[in-house]
Amino acid sequence: MDTQRDCGCQSARERMDILIDRELTEMECADVRAHCTSCESCHEEVALLETLTDRFRSACAEPAPENLRISILNSIKNQNGIVDA
Ligand SMILES: [Zn+2]
Repeated sequence: MDTQRDCGCQSARERMDILIDRELTEMECADVRAHCTSCESCHEEVALLETLTDRFRSACAEPAPENLRISILNSIKNQNGIVDA
């Protein structure tokens, strides 16, 4: 099984929303994540989506502390877009 194959920008972007909703299979997540680690524009796109989603969810529950948001952003940068679900 090859989890490192590049699924391409269009395919990655089509699946980003589903990935953010955590409704992709492990394999599908790996495809999108693999693409995002090698494609700067998709990497930024998915990082932005994740940040916005985290902020949105946090805002619904309770205000997110500033340092939490910073640590999330840093972990995205440090892990090259790969974040444990
Ligand atoms: Zn791409």
